[in-house]
Formats: sequence, C-alpha cells, structure tokens
Amino acid sequence: MLILKRKICKCGKKALPNRRVCYFCDLAIKKANREASQARQKARKQAKDEKLHNSLAYLKPIAWKLFSRHIRYSNLDSYGRAKCYTCGFTDIPQNMQAGHFHHDRLDFSEKNVHVQCVRCNKWLSGNLGVYAERLVEDGVDLKVLRRDAESKVYTVTELKELIATLSK
Ligand SMILES: [Zn+2]
Ligand SMILES: [Zn+2]
Repeated sequence: MLILKRKICKCGKKALPNRRVCYFCDLAIKKANREASQARQKARKQAKDEKLHNSLAYLKPIAWKLFSRHIRYSNLDSYGRAKCYTCGFTDIPQNMQAGHFHHDRLDFSEKNVHVQCVRCNKWLSGNLGVYAERLVEDGVDLKVLRRDAESKVYTVTELKELIATLSK
C-alpha cells in the first residue's frame, strides 16, 4: 500500500498533494502573481500613453483647435462678430475659419494665421493676393515670414506650452 506522505507548507499547514504549499498559500501566491501581472500591464499602458501624449501627432490637433479658436475669438466687434482679414466680411466666430498665409506651416504664428471667412479661406484658397497686401500693411516682412515658414518646426515642448497657455 502506497502512503502518500504530504509535505508541510512553510506556513505549517499540510501541503496540497504533490505540492510544497498548502491550499491557502497556493491561493495567496496565485493572487500575488495575478496582481503583479496587472501592475505590469498598467505600467506598460501608462508608458504607452505617455509616449503618445508626447508625440507631435497627438499634440498638434489639440494645439490647432485651441489656436484656431484663439484667432477667431480675438478682436470681436461690439456685436461679437469676427472680421475676415482679407475681405472684411463679419460673422460670428463659429462661422469663421483660421486661415494660413503659408499653408500647413507656421501653424501657431499670429503673423501666418488670421481670421477668414469660408469664401476667402476655402473657395478662394486663402485669397492670398489680398492676404499678402494686408500683411504688408500690418508691417509683416513677407520675406522673413517665408523664411520662418520654411524653417520653423514646432517641438513637443513648444506645443505643450502653447496648449497650457491657450487652455487658460
Ligand atoms: Zn501554507
Ligand atoms: Zn473673406
């Protein structure tokens, strides 16, 4: 007759058959392993989120939304309307757009981005001839603006600062 001699767990209770640990310690170990695995998963997700939140691809749309709003809502007239930079049409800021002079560049420069109506910005592709004239009238050096537009690259730090400022 084979007598299985059960080992004694380090806690003093009888171990499970063919094991070194008892039922309760076994449960506790499994629970601890599960929690450690969950903690690792959480840390991985946090690291991933942090990486994402520090990327230009993530920050740029947020900064643009805030900056566009800032542009459209600055200098409203006494009726609460914004004035198109290139044709003078006025409307509530919700109906206006923030239009670039140099497209897709210097996105967060108040020299390169102004309030425009949909007609000027979209249908007239920025109404750039008049835009240039207006900039010159405002004392903007178009050569300098072009050079800036060609060289400027926004950094993560800059965008974060911009978002913080414009969120206030
Ligand atoms: Zn035990
Ligand atoms: Zn216009």
